Amino acid sequence: MSTASAAPGGPSVAGGQANETEGDWNLDFTCVFCEEVNPEFVQQRLDEHYWRECPCLCACAYCSEVVEVANMHTHLKLECKSPQAKGVQLPADTCVMCRAKVGLGEAAFRRHLLVGSGCAKAVRKPKLGVKYRL
Ligand SMILES: [Zn+2]
Ligand SMILES: [Zn+2]
Ligand SMILES: [Zn+2]
Repeated sequence: MSTASAAPGGPSVAGGQANETEGDWNLDFTCVFCEEVNPEFVQQRLDEHYWRECPCLCACAYCSEVVEVANMHTHLKLECKSPQAKGVQLPADTCVMCRAKVGLGEAAFRRHLLVGSGCAKAVRKPKLGVKYRL
């Protein structure tokens, strides 16, 4: 019963989505990562949220690309363009910021990043007043 269900149709910040279509873009004003719903989340504002505030994302310490915290191990292993990231081993169940073992899967990372004041080492904190779905 612990099958992780991926968020439907979630674009990846690090994936370099080439074809963003205008119009039917994010009509429900929801961040696909932390799932905050905010009527201000039109494209530009949501981009800002991804770049600066979303607690589920963080900048890679090596290449500064913004990556999902839960996917940082994959980023470092396969995608990171910085030579310094070579040989960096980040276990899949470990938070890249505080190095605590948070558990495997997106749900475990959501709890680590969104409950209370979030990850102790995170710069991006969960917003007060936002009910995150955990
Ligand atoms: Zn978010
Ligand atoms: Zn990187
Ligand atoms: Zn952490």
